[in-house]
Amino acid sequence: MSKRDFYEVLGVSRDASERDIKKAYKRLAMKYHPDKNPGDESATDKFKEVKLAYEILTDAQKRAAYDQYGHAAFEQGGMGGGGGFGGGNADFSDIFGDVFGDIFGGGGRRGGQARAQRGADLRYNMELTLEEAVRGVNKEIDVPTYVSCDPCSGSGAKPGTSPQTCGTCHGQGQVQMRQGFFAVQQACPTCHGRGKIIKDPCDSCHGQGRVQKTKTLSVKIPAGVDTGDRIRLTGEGEAGEYGAPAGDLYVQVHVRDHHIFTRDGNNLYCEVPVSFTMAALGGEVEVPTLDGRVSLKVPTETQTGRMFRMRGKGVQSVRGGGLGDLICKLVVETPVNLSSKQKELLREFEESLGGSAAKKHKPKSEGFFDGVKKFFDDLTS
Ligand SMILES: [Zn+2]
Ligand SMILES: [Zn+2]
Repeated sequence: MSKRDFYEVLGVSRDASERDIKKAYKRLAMKYHPDKNPGDESATDKFKEVKLAYEILTDAQKRAAYDQYGHAAFEQGGMGGGGGFGGGNADFSDIFGDVFGDIFGGGGRRGGQARAQRGADLRYNMELTLEEAVRGVNKEIDVPTYVSCDPCSGSGAKPGTSPQTCGTCHGQGQVQMRQGFFAVQQACPTCHGRGKIIKDPCDSCHGQGRVQKTKTLSVKIPAGVDTGDRIRLTGEGEAGEYGAPAGDLYVQVHVRDHHIFTRDGNNLYCEVPVSFTMAALGGEVEVPTLDGRVSLKVPTETQTGRMFRMRGKGVQSVRGGGLGDLICKLVVETPVNLSSKQKELLREFEESLGGSAAKKHKPKSEGFFDGVKKFFDDLTS
């Protein structure tokens, strides 16, 4: 697969709008389309390159990943892939219903043959725990959908018979109507644009070529996905009518909140409570990571809110890049449910900090109260 810059491929600027990109794509796709350049390998390659650039730059998420990481975002294991796109995916069919539908007209008509409509794409919302998202997981999902009818192999015609070519349009799906000087293409009224007539419909699907069914799929979620990632399962959407190609299934990932960790990109964050004695004297505290506990050294005189970075204890994103870090925020905990003895000790302790030496034990207070005083002085002056 080529490494040319996607913006360059489409000849648009990096801040091009989706409309500009679509426009550029239409122009180039028309130029290099295999139907227009029969036997020309380089045109086919160009076409694929243009198509890939278009697919990525019109998907907000992929475009953002591309802007940030370049082609690396889509290499091996990249981009919540699931075989969605990238090398080797030379399937032209999926865009005909999309952009080519309105270029060539007639609902994706191509090469003089009527084409039944491709099945609908489906979206499945999948909730994952943070652990599942970070490590990857195989999930079985039940998807209510349409599947190709078995007895008639999707043709819609009773087994043993086959659909007949429509006599009115001779299989074109379109007929020419004259209106004054103009010849206008219209969907064939006999076959409703399908090009075929089913005389003897299949009993199972009543001539639809597909039946409703809940199918169970095993979905491999790659390690490192995050909320908003989408995995495309090509051809696992609804079966089309009359044997038309199936749509795709998009698995939309949503990661549930975790009771300890918050994720931001490749980094994980957590709060670790420490007693104020430990914060003052230093010590060691156990902190959780996704692979078990590790020990964190708390330096003496640690203030609340101080962050500690545990390198490499974060997440490896599905988009590649380095392994993230775990960032622990130490929070000094105020003791509760104190006995009168304990309270007495604290008062005694507080007194021991008092007097003219108080400031040296309270590094934040001094600056803070000076600031407060200045604030009120400024207000009243
Ligand atoms: Zn017809
Ligand atoms: Zn059938």
